[in-house]
Amino acid sequence: MIVVPPPPFPKRNVVAWAKPADCLPLRLESSALYMWWGERGWTTIGRGANAQPDSRIVAAASRLVTLLLGLLLTASVAAGAGTTPTVTGVRIGDQGGATRFVLDLTADVKFSVFALDQPYRLVIDLPPVDWQITKADEGRKFGVIQQFRYGRYDEKTSRLVLDLSGPVEIAKTFVLPPDGPFKYRLVVDVKPIRAEAFVRTPPPAVAFAAPSALKTVPSKPAGKPVIVLDPGHGGVDPGTIGLSGVKEKDITLAVARELRTALEATGKYTVILTRDGDTFVALNQRVAKSEAAAASLFISLHADSIATSQITGASVYTLSKTASDAAADALAARENRADAAGGLPIGDQPTDVAAILISLLQGETMKFSASFASLLVPELSKSWHVLPTAHRFAGFAVLKAPEVPSVLIELGYLSNSTDERALTRADGRKPVIDAIARAVKQFFDQHPV
Ligand SMILES: [Zn+2]
Repeated sequence: MIVVPPPPFPKRNVVAWAKPADCLPLRLESSALYMWWGERGWTTIGRGANAQPDSRIVAAASRLVTLLLGLLLTASVAAGAGTTPTVTGVRIGDQGGATRFVLDLTADVKFSVFALDQPYRLVIDLPPVDWQITKADEGRKFGVIQQFRYGRYDEKTSRLVLDLSGPVEIAKTFVLPPDGPFKYRLVVDVKPIRAEAFVRTPPPAVAFAAPSALKTVPSKPAGKPVIVLDPGHGGVDPGTIGLSGVKEKDITLAVARELRTALEATGKYTVILTRDGDTFVALNQRVAKSEAAAASLFISLHADSIATSQITGASVYTLSKTASDAAADALAARENRADAAGGLPIGDQPTDVAAILISLLQGETMKFSASFASLLVPELSKSWHVLPTAHRFAGFAVLKAPEVPSVLIELGYLSNSTDERALTRADGRKPVIDAIARAVKQFFDQHPV
């Protein structure tokens, strides 16, 4: 078993991480913030000497010591003695200027990655695996990855060979643990570099001749764009409560499921929900899912409520450090409290978006987010109703994936009886769903992936 780093947490002073099955602080520092990486994302254990490892960590740490001793003795033994791990999918996308290659796996595996030249290739070695890759996955290409082959290399190794358009450096390799719809994901990020900077890793003693079992895959255009729909709140966090007692979390889930059906019916998109049940998902986790899926669009769905029951209509938000008005600012503060409402410790969730904004401003993500918002507002006005100046800005924590155009839609006001009645019924929601689906189509017509 490999102890795998979780997705990056945007606080620089985090030095410890853990995951439920095997965890241990990596090093101890008096001023360090200690985090737990669990099913619900990051939670704080404590700072320095005040860190309070809970019973899960104490138990798991002792398991890890046993595990490490075992690994020293049996380092060359394959990870799984039971069933053979299966590769169930392949995804390739852009990750902050790097090309990200993701293998979906049914089990955690040991792996090694190295780069070759003449011609430029990347090799991923795995223990023997079963390959269940669809035709669509076989044709994936993106960025520097032109095509790939896979198959058994030798008795102990299954291998993927990726043909590259030029020299790269291996920026990151890691395995993500199961999460929601995903099982294990082996992630390799490569960045194009100049030929002089290319390092062969490791220099192979003999040139790799492609074994005959390797299957050559012809290149084909990249797959469908991935849209991540994010039903706000869930589980222990109901969100806002409507006049009749209806819960925001139930409205947002219903809209997400119906919107998924509408989008999938076009055959043009892959749609992923950040939750597909009444479960709590931390804001960071929602962002992480969107990034891991290399999404081309992230739509967070919410409904608001306000003391004035006459106010009605939808609004669309994109990320900004400075809110467009005091109401937008207050709304972002309310939505950002979702983690606290869900039982995560208050104070360790990043609400300061300044650092994120810097990277966002350097990229095109904000422009694309605003572009989608500007298509969405007119469509919502056609078949639904919107607030005056319906595109607004504020510091929403859930909109902070640096590479994914992201918007948050407040579908309407559950404090208004008309909005609440409409959003509680499938036929009432249909005009909103149709409007969003039309805007999505226009967006991808204008910005093909
Ligand atoms: Zn909400």
